[in-house]
Amino acid sequence: MKARTFRTWLEHLQLTDRLAVIDRNVSLQYEIAKVAKKLDGKKASYFTQVEDYTIPVVSGICSTREDFAEALETDQYGVISKFTEAVASPVPCRLLNKQQAPVKENIILENIDLMKMLPIPVHHEEDSGNYITAGLFIVRDPVTRKQNVSIHRLQISGKNKIGALILPRHTFHLYKQAEEAGRPLECAIVIGVDPVTLLASQASTPFGVDELEISSALRGEPLEVVRCETVDIDVPAYAEIVLEGKILPHVREPEGPFGEFPKYYGPRSDKEVIEITAVTHRNNPIFYTIVPAGYEHLLLGGIPREASLFQSVRQTVPSVKAVHMSPGGTCRYHAIVSIKKRNDGEAKNAIFAALANSFDIKHVVVTDEEVDIFNMEEVEWAIATRFQADRDFVVIHEAQGSKLDPSTRDGVGSKMGFDCTVPLNSEPMQYLRIQIPGYNEGNLEDYINPDKSIQSVHLEGDKNL
Ligand code: MN
Repeated sequence: MKARTFRTWLEHLQLTDRLAVIDRNVSLQYEIAKVAKKLDGKKASYFTQVEDYTIPVVSGICSTREDFAEALETDQYGVISKFTEAVASPVPCRLLNKQQAPVKENIILENIDLMKMLPIPVHHEEDSGNYITAGLFIVRDPVTRKQNVSIHRLQISGKNKIGALILPRHTFHLYKQAEEAGRPLECAIVIGVDPVTLLASQASTPFGVDELEISSALRGEPLEVVRCETVDIDVPAYAEIVLEGKILPHVREPEGPFGEFPKYYGPRSDKEVIEITAVTHRNNPIFYTIVPAGYEHLLLGGIPREASLFQSVRQTVPSVKAVHMSPGGTCRYHAIVSIKKRNDGEAKNAIFAALANSFDIKHVVVTDEEVDIFNMEEVEWAIATRFQADRDFVVIHEAQGSKLDPSTRDGVGSKMGFDCTVPLNSEPMQYLRIQIPGYNEGNLEDYINPDKSIQSVHLEGDKNL
């Protein structure tokens, strides 16, 4: 498995010429983000010299849909079904002892100073400071002992202090329970894991499902984990760096602004505070950062959402073929759905089902199955030629949307849907797509002779113009 660990995946990227090594000394302040963003969607970036740090920085380990598909050992069209199967049947992790786990090669329990130890970048102009953007945030439910994994933006607020935005989902629920009992909630922040575990961390699951167990299912074998030093949490044993700590009860401090996935800033406000109690890391650790709003970030959020969206639509329209949350729509706000329409009106039901899947989804386009919904020019063509606003347009006002969409009123806004499917009773020729017989057969190269130019007899007549 190429994506067994962070390092095996980096080696694979290097072997396939998809890793750019940046040797020049670069600044934490914007420069890493600048270079990584320019390479976004093309190559991973590996910075060997970051200011005076000895630790290199990597970004962009998966920045195309094909990258994630390859990590999952499937193709672009198999990603959703493979991910859906794994979410439905998690596999327990395997607990290693300390001696077996590389992440225990170095254990630091005293004098923790995060900015002295780790090259943590500043990404965008108005960001409030240095942010860990790619840390798997792991907590444990003390009752069921099940863990939960998520990713949060983490602002370095002091030597061993981090400010976090924890949206009201699973981690938040466990934190609130702890806080109401006057206790801190133990946590671990894991930096530098394989792309499969990274993707698994973003799965839409019911409360109580351990996302690391979804990684095990995707891998086809248990993910190896190890117990932390100062907290009762299990972390991937081959992780590069682990920060152990606790979210403090009844403490809130300023965090933000921070450049977020919609390419706008999330605001500054008082947020939860984490105190770091230990740092463990491999020998010669590598730091990993995700540039917010880049393809890596968008796809990481988008692919697991597509898996959940596909399930939602299928409950209403069983003939759904594919779903796509496009990067231009932040991989959150725009859903494109293709169906094999069997009944008139079905596309509208697909619109309702998609909108009901997540409050983030704002605009839905439904097409027939033969439209390639991963090709946005095809999608636009379907809107241009198979849609009439008077009969195919759906709009819903005053619905809950994303608070990070600046055009909403604190998250309240409108939804709309485009039914771009062909009416079932239309004349066969009316919507028949033009086609050149044999277009997809044979190789173009067989027709072209690279050594030939235009015969001179055809150019001579106009030579003296
Ligand atoms: Mn969860």
